[in-house]
Amino acid sequence: MTSSWQSILRTNFTSVDELAAYLQLGEEDRAQLLAKSPFTLNVPERLAAKMAKGTLDDPLARQFFAHTLETKQGEGFLDDPNAESLYTLTGKMLKKYAGRALIVTTSACAMHCRYCFRQNYPYEKEKADFEEELSGLRSDTSLFEVILSGGDPLSLPDRRLMTLLEGIDAIPHIQLIRFHTRFPIGIPERIDDAFLDLFASINKQIVFVVHVNHARELDSDVLFSLKRIQKLGIPVLSQSVLLKDVNDTVEALEELMLKLSANGIIPYYLHQLDRVRGSQRFEVGDERAIALIGQIRERLPGYAVPQLVREIPGHLHKTPLLVPRTLRES
Ligand SMILES: *Cc1c(COP(=O)(O)O)cnc(C)c1O
Ligand code: SF4
Repeated sequence: MTSSWQSILRTNFTSVDELAAYLQLGEEDRAQLLAKSPFTLNVPERLAAKMAKGTLDDPLARQFFAHTLETKQGEGFLDDPNAESLYTLTGKMLKKYAGRALIVTTSACAMHCRYCFRQNYPYEKEKADFEEELSGLRSDTSLFEVILSGGDPLSLPDRRLMTLLEGIDAIPHIQLIRFHTRFPIGIPERIDDAFLDLFASINKQIVFVVHVNHARELDSDVLFSLKRIQKLGIPVLSQSVLLKDVNDTVEALEELMLKLSANGIIPYYLHQLDRVRGSQRFEVGDERAIALIGQIRERLPGYAVPQLVREIPGHLHKTPLLVPRTLRES
């Protein structure tokens, strides 16, 4: 049986020409686009509908169109910027931090974000099940949390998600099951009654972290779908990536964090860009990033201010970027 969200997913824009035509882009803008890329264009209609017409200078369009600049090699920009290959536990599971294992559940996403640090990830596709991962979780009693990531874990059909969640739910030492997803931003219809029933049937505490970068990504359907998850007693947190010309202004960040907070979603992390090959056009310098978050702190309640962090391979946690003492005193 095909769910309605699966039919919606099939209406995504996957052709650069079709999306460019839909947005009425002129010749000059089209010339900046990569017609073909190994990391293909993939944009839900809902997001395309929110993009400004006749320009590439739009915070949503910028996140999803492959730009010719991607083919330029930037110094220090790598295929695997977070050195994830060093932390593999099983074919689909990583362990980087104490107590937490992360399952790369699938390669599929509701959308393809150009700055995605897993765009070159060697996704394990031989085994359709998660037996190896479940057995790894069972045998490592130091683990207390499992993070379901990807790709996007909400790309999994309910039946496969159910098998995985039930397997995890039965492991006594696991206390928390965390989702890292961007799916509801593109296709909130994913959060349907069947999905909510599945969540409600799990005994362990679920934590739901949604990846969102701009206030315009949050419309009333998206917020309603997240509210239904909150109503199950599941905390909904957000993570965002600080992206040049997408959300790197005080106004854009303030609007996003306030809109999240006003809808009961707690801003968790604001990530500095992971320096994946081709993504240099999105980079915001650390000093500017720190200044921006400092200004957000002056404007919003403390709980509405995410932690500005950078992933540094080898560190035992994500590394907060803080105001240096010299700057603070001046
Ligand atoms: C970010 C990340 C986590 C989770 O880190 P938190 O600070 O607990 O949110 C876990 N595993 C991997 C591999 C990660 O990249
Ligand atoms: S939804 Fe997440 S995993 Fe998928 S492409 Fe975007 S950033 Fe990467």
